[in-house]
Amino acid sequence: MTPSILYCSVCKKYTLKEMCSCGQKTTTTKPAKFSVDDKWGKYRREYKREHKE
Ligand SMILES: [Zn+2]
Repeated sequence: MTPSILYCSVCKKYTLKEMCSCGQKTTTTKPAKFSVDDKWGKYRREYKREHKE
């Protein structure tokens, strides 16, 4: 498993720790792959709808 890159919105920097040294909880950054999945998800939904009846 690859470690997920986390981001501190307070320090505006990337880290691998779930909690930044400033005390702010870091947020997960979604990789670019996700937007591709969404794009295909739209086609999948349309396909599903067409083949439901
Ligand atoms: Zn921070």
